Amino acid sequence: MNIPCRICMEFEQDGDVLRTHIEKYLRTLSEEEKIDEASYFNRLSLCEKCEALNQGLCKYCGCFVIVRAIKKRLNCPYPEGKRW
Ligand code: SF4
Repeated sequence: MNIPCRICMEFEQDGDVLRTHIEKYLRTLSEEEKIDEASYFNRLSLCEKCEALNQGLCKYCGCFVIVRAIKKRLNCPYPEGKRW
């Protein structure tokens, strides 16, 4: 029997709730942790064209790409060679 996750249910009911949580989390990151804005949007544009992107999530790492792409120390987990 699958027990539904209360948090997921909340997010399914209101996508804006998820966005608010993510934006709140992004605001907690220090400037040192974050990549510059141009590089961030470049990373996201590459994700937008990638077949691994599904509803904002990368199928290889399970991350929300808007979170992963902003972190300077992280890169793309594409198995045949990182895309950023
Ligand atoms: S594999 Fe890389 S480019 Fe594709 S969605 Fe994941 S992080 Fe983005």
